[in-house]
Amino acid sequence: MAAHPSLLMAHLRTAAVSTARARLLRSFTPVVRAPISYNGIRCLSTTASRRSAFAVNDLTQVFHDVAPLRKFRRDLLLNQRTVGLVPTMGALHSGHLSLVRRAAEENTDVWVTIYVNPTQFGLNEDLASYPKTWETDMEMLRDLDRQLAREGKGRISAVFAPSTNTMYPTSPPDSSIPGVGSFIEMRPLGQLLEGASRPVFFRGVATVCMKLFNICTPDSVYFGQKDAQQTVVIKKLVKDFHLDTKVVICETSREPDGLALSSRNVYLGERRRKVGIVLNQALRKAEAQYNSGKRLRGDILWPAVDHGDRVQHEQDNLQPSKRALFQVDYISLADPDTMEEVEKVDETKGAILSGAVKMMPLEEPQEGEDLGLGGGQVAVRLIDNIVLKPTQ
Ligand code: AMP
Repeated sequence: MAAHPSLLMAHLRTAAVSTARARLLRSFTPVVRAPISYNGIRCLSTTASRRSAFAVNDLTQVFHDVAPLRKFRRDLLLNQRTVGLVPTMGALHSGHLSLVRRAAEENTDVWVTIYVNPTQFGLNEDLASYPKTWETDMEMLRDLDRQLAREGKGRISAVFAPSTNTMYPTSPPDSSIPGVGSFIEMRPLGQLLEGASRPVFFRGVATVCMKLFNICTPDSVYFGQKDAQQTVVIKKLVKDFHLDTKVVICETSREPDGLALSSRNVYLGERRRKVGIVLNQALRKAEAQYNSGKRLRGDILWPAVDHGDRVQHEQDNLQPSKRALFQVDYISLADPDTMEEVEKVDETKGAILSGAVKMMPLEEPQEGEDLGLGGGQVAVRLIDNIVLKPTQ
């Protein structure tokens, strides 16, 4: 199926060309696209070649190296296609997929990156135990891509899964606090809240995202509201470094009881899962205060702190064979642009309510109990947030 480059160029010239991205997106008809081979890399045609013989999900290519991905990117650009990038660390769940869906609604091509970035894990954090589920991830993406094809949406045309040598080409990645290497730091934003508990976290996040954005040059990037402070870091990264991409924030996907989906939830098991909802419950109590007209920090936060204390007390009083202990790291009411704590919510800006709890390892796991991955012995950090919208 090798197509001569000149054929491709002729094909590009005859493709419907519109400089207005909106028009381009409206006229895009992915269901009838067909893969063509160009210099060894499968790429996609924008014209309506009405051959339906191609399996609808044969289009996703997996890249491990930068050069072929860049070449693919150039081909897409020449072909007036837009790329929406969804950076992930794998262990995909429907929260990740909601980002991919959104990207597929707004772009012809969605690129998903799967890379567990070592520099955002502190030396004592859970890098080694972070779940890795490559096969399932690919199946989920294949299933979703089939649905996108049926719905006539943009398609998942690339998964980028680089090695650490590729991502950190000149130095081994360093997770120590002094940090030898080339890093992006944001002060004070990166040191607040999550950054106070995980000092290298946002340095690692900002650095790896800058690398991914430089490699993929996406038209838009998609991040989850689930990681509220991360969204602020990414917006600042794009603004401060003049990156030519649009940042799209997608709402948090939750379990029916409100627990935010997270790759780490697989470690909870039933006992810690039930208690882990405490954080979302606490934040919702604070949100209710805001919705009832309270604007002062103390008035908004006290029921959240009180709820955390009460549930903690209940667990303390149970037998070790029955309880799930946790520590509240923080409950915060912060400015949505800076994540700095506020004494009073500015009604023109709203605020971010957020929190983190650490579910401690189970003390006495029981025979036959659903302990989750790791036998209930992996401490699990849960984070969550609620956006308090401006009222003026
Ligand atoms: P991670 O793989 O945890 O680094 O997450 C990759 C992206 O998915 C980030 O932008 C997260 O904010 C987003 N994400 C993770 N969990 C959720 C969720 N429950 N709802 C929406 N987005 C999420």
